[in-house]
Amino acid sequence: MIQVIRIPAFTDNYIWLITNEARRYGVLVDPGSAAPVLAELEQRQIEPLAILITHKHNDHIGGINAIREKYPHIEIYGPATEEIPHRDHALTEGDLVHFDKLDATFQVMDVFGHTAGHIAYHGEASLFCGDTIFGAGCGRVFDGTMEDLHHALHRIAQLPPETLIYCAHEYTLDNLGFAKWVEPDNKDIDERQEDCWELLDSGQATVPFTLEMEFKTNPFLRTHIPEVIAKAEEVAGRELATQSEVFAALRIWKDTEYD
Ligand SMILES: [Zn+2]
Repeated sequence: MIQVIRIPAFTDNYIWLITNEARRYGVLVDPGSAAPVLAELEQRQIEPLAILITHKHNDHIGGINAIREKYPHIEIYGPATEEIPHRDHALTEGDLVHFDKLDATFQVMDVFGHTAGHIAYHGEASLFCGDTIFGAGCGRVFDGTMEDLHHALHRIAQLPPETLIYCAHEYTLDNLGFAKWVEPDNKDIDERQEDCWELLDSGQATVPFTLEMEFKTNPFLRTHIPEVIAKAEEVAGRELATQSEVFAALRIWKDTEYD
Protein backbone atom coordinates (compact mmCIF):
# COMPACT_ATOMS: atom_id res chain seq x y z
CA MET A 1 0.00 0.00 0.00
CA ILE A 2 1.28 3.41 -0.91
CA GLN A 3 1.11 6.41 1.37
CA VAL A 4 0.95 9.90 -0.03
CA ILE A 5 2.51 12.92 1.64
CA ARG A 6 1.35 16.39 0.69
CA ILE A 7 3.99 19.09 0.20
CA PRO A 8 2.48 22.59 -0.18
CA ALA A 9 4.29 24.96 -2.55
CA PHE A 10 3.79 28.54 -3.77
CA THR A 11 0.37 29.85 -2.69
CA ASP A 12 -1.92 26.95 -3.61
CA ASN A 13 0.10 24.16 -5.27
CA TYR A 14 0.43 20.64 -3.92
CA ILE A 15 3.44 18.48 -4.70
CA TRP A 16 2.74 14.82 -3.95
CA LEU A 17 5.29 12.45 -2.45
CA ILE A 18 4.26 8.82 -2.91
CA THR A 19 5.99 6.50 -0.45
CA ASN A 20 5.96 2.88 0.58
CA GLU A 21 4.56 1.89 3.95
CA ALA A 22 7.90 2.12 5.71
CA ARG A 23 8.38 5.58 4.19
CA ARG A 24 11.89 4.78 3.08
CA TYR A 25 11.55 5.46 -0.65
CA GLY A 26 9.56 8.08 -2.49
CA VAL A 27 8.31 9.20 -5.88
CA LEU A 28 7.52 12.87 -6.42
CA VAL A 29 4.71 14.20 -8.55
CA ASP A 30 5.01 17.64 -10.21
CA PRO A 31 7.67 19.33 -8.06
CA GLY A 32 7.23 22.93 -9.17
CA SER A 33 9.58 24.09 -6.45
CA ALA A 34 12.65 22.32 -5.04
CA ALA A 35 13.06 23.89 -1.59
CA PRO A 36 9.99 22.42 0.15
CA VAL A 37 10.68 19.03 -1.46
CA LEU A 38 14.31 18.86 -0.39
CA ALA A 39 13.35 19.90 3.15
CA GLU A 40 10.65 17.22 3.36
CA LEU A 41 12.93 14.45 2.02
CA GLU A 42 15.68 15.40 4.41
CA GLN A 43 13.45 15.69 7.44
CA ARG A 44 11.74 12.35 6.80
CA GLN A 45 14.91 10.64 5.56
CA ILE A 46 13.16 9.44 2.39
CA GLU A 47 15.21 8.43 -0.64
CA PRO A 48 13.57 9.71 -3.83
CA LEU A 49 13.51 7.28 -6.76
CA ALA A 50 11.72 9.23 -9.45
CA ILE A 51 9.76 12.28 -10.50
CA LEU A 52 6.46 11.95 -12.35
CA ILE A 53 5.48 15.00 -14.39
CA THR A 54 1.96 15.57 -15.71
CA HIS A 55 2.58 18.60 -17.93
CA LYS A 56 5.05 21.30 -18.90
CA HIS A 57 3.91 24.29 -16.82
CA ASN A 58 6.58 25.82 -14.65
CA ASP A 59 4.70 25.39 -11.38
CA HIS A 60 4.95 21.63 -12.05
CA ILE A 61 8.51 21.29 -13.37
CA GLY A 62 10.36 24.25 -11.79
CA GLY A 63 12.01 22.13 -9.09
CA ILE A 64 13.40 19.39 -11.35
CA ASN A 65 16.88 20.87 -11.90
CA ALA A 66 17.71 21.44 -8.26
CA ILE A 67 16.27 18.09 -7.14
CA ARG A 68 18.23 16.24 -9.82
CA GLU A 69 21.38 18.09 -8.79
CA LYS A 70 20.98 16.88 -5.21
CA TYR A 71 19.85 13.38 -6.25
CA PRO A 72 21.59 12.64 -9.61
CA HIS A 73 20.13 9.11 -9.86
CA ILE A 74 16.52 10.23 -9.68
CA GLU A 75 14.66 9.29 -12.89
CA ILE A 76 12.35 11.76 -14.59
CA TYR A 77 9.12 10.59 -16.26
CA GLY A 78 6.98 12.93 -18.32
CA PRO A 79 4.65 13.37 -21.27
CA ALA A 80 6.23 12.40 -24.60
CA THR A 81 5.04 15.45 -26.52
CA GLU A 82 5.98 18.21 -24.07
CA GLU A 83 9.30 19.74 -23.16
CA ILE A 84 10.32 18.42 -19.73
CA PRO A 85 13.84 19.09 -18.36
CA HIS A 86 16.02 15.97 -17.94
CA ARG A 87 13.20 13.66 -19.03
CA ASP A 88 14.49 10.04 -19.04
CA HIS A 89 11.19 8.35 -19.87
CA ALA A 90 8.79 9.77 -22.47
CA LEU A 91 5.30 8.51 -21.68
CA THR A 92 2.06 8.16 -23.55
CA GLU A 93 -1.38 6.51 -23.17
CA GLY A 94 -1.22 2.98 -21.76
CA ASP A 95 2.42 3.01 -20.65
CA LEU A 96 3.04 1.40 -17.28
CA VAL A 97 5.33 2.89 -14.66
CA HIS A 98 6.35 0.41 -11.98
CA PHE A 99 8.35 0.94 -8.81
CA ASP A 100 9.54 -2.24 -7.15
CA LYS A 101 10.58 -0.46 -3.98
CA LEU A 102 7.09 1.02 -3.58
CA ASP A 103 5.37 -2.12 -4.83
CA ALA A 104 3.29 0.22 -6.97
CA THR A 105 2.32 0.46 -10.63
CA PHE A 106 0.74 3.39 -12.45
CA GLN A 107 -0.83 3.43 -15.86
CA VAL A 108 -0.46 6.52 -18.01
CA MET A 109 -3.59 8.21 -19.36
CA ASP A 110 -3.59 10.88 -22.04
CA VAL A 111 -5.71 13.69 -20.59
CA PHE A 112 -5.16 16.52 -23.05
CA GLY A 113 -6.88 19.88 -22.83
CA HIS A 114 -5.26 22.01 -20.12
CA THR A 115 -2.14 21.53 -22.26
CA ALA A 116 -1.93 19.64 -25.54
CA GLY A 117 0.21 16.80 -24.14
CA HIS A 118 -0.99 16.53 -20.52
CA ILE A 119 -0.89 13.03 -18.99
CA ALA A 120 -2.16 11.54 -15.71
CA TYR A 121 -0.97 8.58 -13.63
CA HIS A 122 -3.56 6.07 -12.47
CA GLY A 123 -2.87 3.22 -10.06
CA GLU A 124 -3.08 2.04 -6.46
CA ALA A 125 -6.69 3.34 -6.37
CA SER A 126 -5.34 6.84 -6.97
CA LEU A 127 -5.16 9.33 -9.82
CA PHE A 128 -2.42 11.94 -10.08
CA CYS A 129 -3.97 14.29 -12.58
CA GLY A 130 -2.05 17.58 -12.48
CA ASP A 131 -4.30 20.40 -13.67
CA THR A 132 -6.94 18.32 -15.48
CA ILE A 133 -9.62 17.89 -12.83
CA PHE A 134 -9.78 19.90 -9.60
CA GLY A 135 -12.12 19.61 -6.64
CA ALA A 136 -15.50 20.69 -8.08
CA GLY A 137 -13.81 22.05 -11.19
CA CYS A 138 -11.29 21.52 -13.95
CA GLY A 139 -8.24 23.19 -15.46
CA ARG A 140 -8.36 26.05 -17.92
CA VAL A 141 -7.75 25.31 -21.57
CA PHE A 142 -4.33 26.65 -22.58
CA ASP A 143 -2.86 24.99 -25.67
CA GLY A 144 -5.29 22.06 -25.81
CA THR A 145 -8.92 22.32 -26.90
CA MET A 146 -12.26 22.37 -25.08
CA GLU A 147 -13.14 19.08 -26.73
CA ASP A 148 -9.88 17.50 -25.59
CA LEU A 149 -10.53 18.54 -22.00
CA HIS A 150 -14.12 17.35 -22.06
CA HIS A 151 -12.93 14.03 -23.46
CA ALA A 152 -10.27 13.81 -20.72
CA LEU A 153 -12.84 14.37 -17.97
CA HIS A 154 -15.11 11.79 -19.58
CA ARG A 155 -12.22 9.29 -19.47
CA ILE A 156 -11.56 10.07 -15.81
CA ALA A 157 -15.26 9.55 -15.10
CA GLN A 158 -14.91 5.91 -16.23
CA LEU A 159 -12.51 5.14 -13.34
CA PRO A 160 -13.85 3.45 -10.18
CA PRO A 161 -15.88 5.97 -8.11
CA GLU A 162 -13.76 5.34 -5.02
CA THR A 163 -10.60 6.50 -6.84
CA LEU A 164 -8.74 9.12 -4.81
CA ILE A 165 -7.93 12.16 -6.93
CA TYR A 166 -4.71 14.02 -6.21
CA CYS A 167 -4.80 17.25 -8.19
CA ALA A 168 -2.13 19.93 -8.05
CA HIS A 169 -4.00 22.92 -6.61
CA GLU A 170 -6.14 23.83 -3.61
CA TYR A 171 -9.04 25.29 -5.60
CA THR A 172 -11.98 23.27 -4.26
CA LEU A 173 -13.70 25.90 -2.14
CA ASP A 174 -13.39 28.54 -4.84
CA ASN A 175 -14.71 26.11 -7.45
CA LEU A 176 -17.70 25.26 -5.27
CA GLY A 177 -18.75 28.91 -5.52
CA PHE A 178 -19.04 28.50 -9.27
CA ALA A 179 -20.73 25.12 -8.87
CA LYS A 180 -23.41 26.99 -6.89
CA TRP A 181 -23.89 29.39 -9.82
CA VAL A 182 -24.57 26.38 -12.03
CA GLU A 183 -26.74 24.45 -9.56
CA PRO A 184 -28.09 26.73 -6.80
CA ASP A 185 -30.33 23.96 -5.45
CA ASN A 186 -27.74 21.17 -5.24
CA LYS A 187 -27.53 20.29 -1.53
CA ASP A 188 -24.41 18.17 -2.02
CA ILE A 189 -22.56 21.35 -2.98
CA ASP A 190 -23.67 23.05 0.27
CA GLU A 191 -22.49 20.07 2.29
CA ARG A 192 -19.17 19.91 0.55
CA GLN A 193 -18.67 23.64 1.10
CA GLU A 194 -19.13 23.15 4.85
CA ASP A 195 -16.73 20.21 4.87
CA CYS A 196 -14.11 22.20 2.96
CA TRP A 197 -14.38 25.17 5.31
CA GLU A 198 -13.80 22.86 8.25
CA LEU A 199 -10.81 21.17 6.63
CA LEU A 200 -9.16 24.45 5.63
CA ASP A 201 -9.87 26.11 8.97
CA SER A 202 -8.05 23.28 10.72
CA GLY A 203 -5.04 23.54 8.42
CA GLN A 204 -5.88 20.48 6.34
CA ALA A 205 -6.36 20.12 2.58
CA THR A 206 -9.50 19.41 0.55
CA VAL A 207 -7.35 17.17 -1.67
CA PRO A 208 -7.44 14.23 -2.23
CA PHE A 209 -11.14 13.64 -2.82
CA THR A 210 -13.05 10.76 -4.36
CA LEU A 211 -14.33 10.66 -7.91
CA GLU A 212 -17.71 9.85 -6.37
CA MET A 213 -17.74 13.27 -4.68
CA GLU A 214 -17.01 14.86 -8.04
CA PHE A 215 -19.97 13.12 -9.65
CA LYS A 216 -22.20 14.86 -7.09
CA THR A 217 -20.68 18.34 -7.06
CA ASN A 218 -18.46 19.02 -10.09
CA PRO A 219 -20.48 20.79 -12.82
CA PHE A 220 -17.92 19.77 -15.44
CA LEU A 221 -18.68 16.09 -14.74
CA ARG A 222 -22.44 16.77 -14.66
CA THR A 223 -22.98 17.92 -18.25
CA HIS A 224 -25.71 15.26 -18.63
CA ILE A 225 -27.83 16.57 -15.70
CA PRO A 226 -30.95 18.50 -16.88
CA GLU A 227 -30.41 21.44 -14.47
CA VAL A 228 -26.81 21.82 -15.63
CA ILE A 229 -27.78 21.68 -19.31
CA ALA A 230 -30.55 24.25 -18.72
CA LYS A 231 -28.14 26.66 -17.00
CA ALA A 232 -25.50 26.25 -19.72
CA GLU A 233 -28.10 26.94 -22.43
CA GLU A 234 -29.34 30.00 -20.54
CA VAL A 235 -25.80 31.37 -20.32
CA ALA A 236 -24.94 30.50 -23.93
CA GLY A 237 -28.25 31.95 -25.15
CA ARG A 238 -28.89 28.98 -27.43
CA GLU A 239 -29.67 25.29 -27.47
CA LEU A 240 -26.67 23.03 -26.87
CA ALA A 241 -26.76 19.77 -28.79
CA THR A 242 -23.95 17.81 -27.10
CA GLN A 243 -22.39 17.37 -23.66
CA SER A 244 -19.19 18.74 -25.12
CA GLU A 245 -21.00 22.00 -25.97
CA VAL A 246 -22.47 22.15 -22.46
CA PHE A 247 -18.98 21.66 -21.07
CA ALA A 248 -17.52 24.44 -23.23
CA ALA A 249 -20.33 26.87 -22.31
CA LEU A 250 -19.64 26.29 -18.59
CA ARG A 251 -15.88 26.61 -19.00
CA ILE A 252 -16.26 29.90 -20.93
CA TRP A 253 -18.76 31.24 -18.39
CA LYS A 254 -16.37 30.49 -15.55
CA ASP A 255 -13.38 32.02 -17.37
CA THR A 256 -15.19 35.22 -18.31
CA GLU A 257 -17.53 35.92 -15.38
CA TYR A 258 -16.40 34.03 -12.30
CA ASP A 259 -12.61 33.97 -12.09
ZN1 LIG B 1 -0.85 23.83 -15.59
